[in-house]
Amino acid sequence: MTRVVRIPVLNDNYVWLFEYAPGLAAAIDPAVAEPVLAAAKAEGLRITHILNTHWHPDHVGGNSALKAETGCTIIGSRREAAKIPGIDTEVDEGDTVVLGDHSATVLFVGAHTAGHIAYHFPAANALFPGDTLFAMGCGRLFEGTAQDMFTALGKLKALPPQTKVYCAHEYTLSNARFAITVEPGNSDLADRLAAVEIARRMGEATVPFTIGDELATNPFVRAGTVGELAERRSAKDAF
Ligand code: ZN
Ligand code: FE
Repeated sequence: MTRVVRIPVLNDNYVWLFEYAPGLAAAIDPAVAEPVLAAAKAEGLRITHILNTHWHPDHVGGNSALKAETGCTIIGSRREAAKIPGIDTEVDEGDTVVLGDHSATVLFVGAHTAGHIAYHFPAANALFPGDTLFAMGCGRLFEGTAQDMFTALGKLKALPPQTKVYCAHEYTLSNARFAITVEPGNSDLADRLAAVEIARRMGEATVPFTIGDELATNPFVRAGTVGELAERRSAKDAF
């Protein structure tokens, strides 16, 4: 069984440690270094790799210090290589990242940033989508269009429904409150909103979730057309 350790950092970021072999881990989107090193130590893990999904500082901010401390290999998007500190290996759509007995397929999901990628580990049933897919939400369109996000979410929602999604932010409650305004009659969504309100009141994380959860409740995943997605994204930006 693969262990995935959640490390809450900054306001609402999650950094993940993916244990791909006993005692060895990849850090996904380390916003900062110190809490990640501390968590690795507490969990008995050595960080051998960093996987970055995109160039934003709250995803790559810990790269240099972690590399200096551990000598880890940094993997990131070829299209954003110039903006990813310490990058060693550049990847793009269809590439494979091999970590021990695990391998990740790289999915190009540019929209939130132009070169955004996601990592899918089929054997571990795990997806790291960075800021592309959130619980009941999606990333803001900083560098891409609604069409780009529609295409990106199309790739992610085609993954097996039981796939666990380890996104990079705890945005779930605000996303759920918006989502219910889009689909007030969706009972799965109403149930999920209620569960998320309780979890957040108790200070619990709501990530990971599954692709199946999103197919049932995420208004961006459920948008039938680019226009519908665009309309929902603008409405959420103003929500
Ligand atoms: Zn971002
Ligand atoms: Fe972010």
